[in-house]
This record gives sequence, C-alpha cells and structure tokens, in this order.
Amino acid sequence: MLTIGCHLSSSKGYLAMGKEAVKIDANTFQFFTRNPRGGNAKELNPSDVEAFLAYAREHGIQRILAHAPYTLNACSADEHLRDFARRTMEDDLNRLEYTPGNCYNFHPGSHVKQGVEAGITYIADMLNQILKPEQSTTVLLETMAGKGSEVGRCFEELREILDRVTLSSHMGVCLDTCHVWDGGYDIANHLDEVIHEFDQVIGLKHLKAIHLNDSLNPLGARKDRHARIGEGCIGKEALIRVVNHPALRHLPFYLETPNELDGYAAEIALMREHFLESNTI
Ligand code: FE
Ligand code: FE
Ligand code: ZN
Repeated sequence: MLTIGCHLSSSKGYLAMGKEAVKIDANTFQFFTRNPRGGNAKELNPSDVEAFLAYAREHGIQRILAHAPYTLNACSADEHLRDFARRTMEDDLNRLEYTPGNCYNFHPGSHVKQGVEAGITYIADMLNQILKPEQSTTVLLETMAGKGSEVGRCFEELREILDRVTLSSHMGVCLDTCHVWDGGYDIANHLDEVIHEFDQVIGLKHLKAIHLNDSLNPLGARKDRHARIGEGCIGKEALIRVVNHPALRHLPFYLETPNELDGYAAEIALMREHFLESNTI
C-alpha cells in the first residue's frame, strides 16, 4: 500500500484538509502549522480536530506531516530570531499533541557567515530545549538544497545535529528529492548508492518521510526550485524508482510540486499506477 499525499492549505482546518485528500485519492497530506512566513497560528478548534480524527480513521488517512514556517531560522546570528524560532516550534509541538503520533518537519536554517559548526550547535541547542520526553510527535530535519548558507545540504551535517540531541528517539529525517538532487546526490542515476550513503552516514532507521519533487535545475545546482513530476531534471522514471525502492516504499511520500489540486490528483494517480504492490528488487 502506497502512502502518498501532497501539501495542502491549512486555512480551512483539519477536516477540510482530510476531505481534500480523499478527493484526490491521497491517504496522507502535509500542511503548514501557520502562515509559512511565520506569525501567529490560528486558534485550534477542538471540534474540527475531533471531526478530522474520526474522518481520518474512517478513510484511512494516516501519518500526516506538519511543516514549520520556512522563514524560521534556528541558527540565526540574531538572538531574537533564534528565540522566535524556538518559541514558534515549541508552540507548534504543543498544538500537534492534539493530533498525536505524527511528524513535524523543519528546515535546519541558514548559518549566514557564522560557519556550519556554529549553526549546528544552535540547532541542536534549540531542539534540546523544546523536545519533551512525553511528546508523541517526531521532529524531522529536512535535507536541504544548500542554497546560500543552508545547514543540512549533506548527510553529515544532519547526522551531526542528531548526534547532539539528547531525546534522539523523538528525531528523524525527511528526505526531499529536489533538495538532495540540488545538493549533489544523484538519485536519478545512482539511487542505490545515495541510499547506501544515507544509511552509512545517518542510518535508514531515522528516515521517516519523503518529499517527492522534481527539480527545475541540474544535479548540484543548489537552487531549490521544485518542478512537477516529469517536468524537471530528475525525471518521472527516477521518481517512480524512488517510490518503489525497497528501502523507501514503506515511507509516506508528500508531493510539494507546483500544482493545484487536479495536478496533484494526476501525480498521485501516476505514482499509484506505477507502484508495484510487491517489490523484491
Ligand atoms: Fe520544506
Ligand atoms: Fe521539501
Ligand atoms: Zn524546497
């Protein structure tokens, strides 16, 4: 069974997202916890959450993925911006306990001239402040394209962060296919080798989710411009191999391609059509 969905707007609440997912034959989805540019989160509506949880059970929706605002920078040189990232993520984690047992993905941040080492230290420090032993949400570091001074372009940097987090069982990684490609990992021609490298450096057991995107730019471009499946440099066949790979096929896949709902529906149908129910390659 393929677990696949796409990024949905959270502006109308959880139940609306659940219904949208079902409409496009998705059985999971991703959403921003609040305006992607930051700012205040809408008041959580307990009856909407209740209705969603019942609807999700009924329709087999599972493993939803919350995404932190992408403007947060946990390793900013500015103490106020670091503090803002910490408070925002802490608040998100509190709210996510209303939909327990899911994942929360964030961009590690940009170190901007401080150096990777300083960036990694800030990120791990923040995680050690906000993770709680009793939480049910797993926090994911997203693999980044390496635009500017982004931390997390290479697997070693993510490993370094994970190593410094005390409550490491609450942590994992989300692999974005566009980002790793832009970061220089050739998943189109050497998927097995990239997965092997991920396993050696981070450990496949830490991989919890895949962002399934094509890339507008060539391998190693460090640009981070997503393309629709088959309309980019990675290509349709390569992304079908990602979804079917024995080490990945059990994971939830989230499309973040530039699409409206009908475009997402077509990409989900395409992946379902090419998903081999048993794969023993
Ligand atoms: Fe992201
Ligand atoms: Fe992503
Ligand atoms: Zn991206």
